[in-house]
Amino acid sequence: MLLFASAANAQDSIFARSLVDTLTSTYFWGRGYTNDGMGKAGRFIASQYSAYGLLPLDGQRYEQPFSFNANTFPGAMEVAVNGISLVPGKDFIVGPQSRGVKGKGSLVKSDSLHYVNGSNRVVLTLQNKLTWSVEQEVADYTEVEIDHQAISGTPKTIKVDIENTFVKDFPTANICGYVKGTVRPDSFFVFTGHYDHLGGMGSKTYFPGANDNASGISQLLSLARYFALHPQRYSIAFICFSGEETGLLGSQYFAHHPLIPLDKIRFLLNMDILGTGEEGITAVNATVYPKEFALLKKINDENHYLVKIASRGKAANSDHYWFTEKGVPAFFIYTMGGIKAYHDVFDISRTLPLNEYNHLFKLLLEFSTDIMKP
Ligand SMILES: [Zn+2]
Repeated sequence: MLLFASAANAQDSIFARSLVDTLTSTYFWGRGYTNDGMGKAGRFIASQYSAYGLLPLDGQRYEQPFSFNANTFPGAMEVAVNGISLVPGKDFIVGPQSRGVKGKGSLVKSDSLHYVNGSNRVVLTLQNKLTWSVEQEVADYTEVEIDHQAISGTPKTIKVDIENTFVKDFPTANICGYVKGTVRPDSFFVFTGHYDHLGGMGSKTYFPGANDNASGISQLLSLARYFALHPQRYSIAFICFSGEETGLLGSQYFAHHPLIPLDKIRFLLNMDILGTGEEGITAVNATVYPKEFALLKKINDENHYLVKIASRGKAANSDHYWFTEKGVPAFFIYTMGGIKAYHDVFDISRTLPLNEYNHLFKLLLEFSTDIMKP
């Protein structure tokens, strides 16, 4: 029995690692707006649902289509300061609201962190850490954020060649499947996580998003694979959201166009950033749902899965938020400790430990199974 259990665990870890490797590969291009990265990731997840035997949540198809505007950077991404070329992602990022620009000129100091090239409307910002994001609008200037360690001396001249494409109504979809309940199929436990990330910045650089949120999607798919083989009394839905990085847009769309009645959701568990765990996990909404939090802690304490489960109140920091606003009981779980890479090119699979993956899987499995008990 013990031998069997450890073999199963090893398999789960290998499964998770292969999923994180896959979702962070060049092919998926950061699951964003260029090279069809987000589209490819959505189709990959749908193919996994299909392989496990999940049913489409709306009875027809896994995709729940919607769209939103996005400023994208598909082409040139070149910056030189004081005549020295900088490496995209590592030395600099472009402000996500930036318009494209090609030109060169001198920089005028605005304050200790900002330098301006007026003729090209370029602002250079010095940063301690580069943290990228996505914007739904384009500004009438270009911002180049530079790691202060990447340049020596005062920035005096800048040369830029940056292409942007503003995409109106970028088409995307939430990927929604479920396992039918055996006793109360109209009641649902729901697992969610976002599969989109920041995508590419120029034609040569992308943001892999291993921890954010290939880790959560791999955990969600592990649970989907398990529950497809072990149906429970309630139906269990699995929703991979798009558009999270652009402002929780996929979950907002679902919460306002639900494919199942929201009052039939007994509990929702959102997973975002699950790749570490040396310092345990945090449960957002723990203080809002003390009964469920006590259950989560009890299971953890009895089995010594994670070193700590920290309690947090309401927070609008991931896809559970819109459901909480609609009164759906929900936790958002994220891991703590370990690598600090976040919204940068260093959030890669190779350095993501996934060290608490099996413990987390068991905790979430037992928690959800307990909630669905009579
Ligand atoms: Zn995330």
